[in-house]
Amino acid sequence: MPAASPPPLAWTGILRKMRVEPGDPVAYFLRDATVDGIPAADGALSPHLGAQVELRFLGEIRCTLCGRATKSTFSDGACFPCSQSRPEADICIVKPELCHHGQPDHPCRDEAFAQAQCFRPHVLYVSLTSGPKVGITREANLPARWIDQGAVVAMPLAMLPDRRSVGLVEKRLSDEGFADRTHWTRMLKGDPAAEELLPFAERVAARLTDWGVPLLPERARGPQGFRYPVRTWPGKVVSLNLDKTPLVAGVLEGIKGQYLMLDSGVINLRKFSGYRVEVKAG
Ligand SMILES: [Zn+2]
Ligand SMILES: [Zn+2]
Repeated sequence: MPAASPPPLAWTGILRKMRVEPGDPVAYFLRDATVDGIPAADGALSPHLGAQVELRFLGEIRCTLCGRATKSTFSDGACFPCSQSRPEADICIVKPELCHHGQPDHPCRDEAFAQAQCFRPHVLYVSLTSGPKVGITREANLPARWIDQGAVVAMPLAMLPDRRSVGLVEKRLSDEGFADRTHWTRMLKGDPAAEELLPFAERVAARLTDWGVPLLPERARGPQGFRYPVRTWPGKVVSLNLDKTPLVAGVLEGIKGQYLMLDSGVINLRKFSGYRVEVKAG
């Protein structure tokens, strides 16, 4: 007798970055980006591993910051006006070293945001995604930030008082050739061996010490590992795109980073932040 199939998940909402919960394996939830109304409850995805999943773009795109209808989106589902005016879409979100901390002629777009986000302690870490890399994030974003990147293991190395200071150190490391990017196709082809991170971490830590950046105490620098819900890694990574194919369907073979891995291809859900979709899972 085949096992009874789970009830169809019928989740309708506006996509945004999935919510992640650390665990073994990591758990994933669809999260609704509705701004001007009551958002739909989170939809658990992990229980549908191995099931047929359908994701249908309903043709409507809403700004994830202000909620207005838009034809195209910029950083994380922002409409054009929001991308030009809202602090969530300011330059320092992608280039922390350009955070205009305390520049009187060029203040943060929003003082409350600056106090809550930019002028907070940030962690400089190393993680193993497609390979070893350096990165930074606000302390409060951990470990979600590592999971969003599909890191297999990560180690916090130093803590700096604000976004700009940590961004400058990361930029300096990147200028010296330390990787700060993830090759997403490689990240989706399997998990690298966790040991690969240690020698990289030691080289980064040595540079930080050379520059007088204090390291976190050793017990706080311990590696943290993550296992993702994956049944089968794709042999060839085919990218699915809701702009080209409004119906994306296939057997859910895995979830890693912000990607759903279907037997028909992979889709970066974060890239479609703001898209209203209907999701079914048999
Ligand atoms: Zn907007
Ligand atoms: Zn900033």
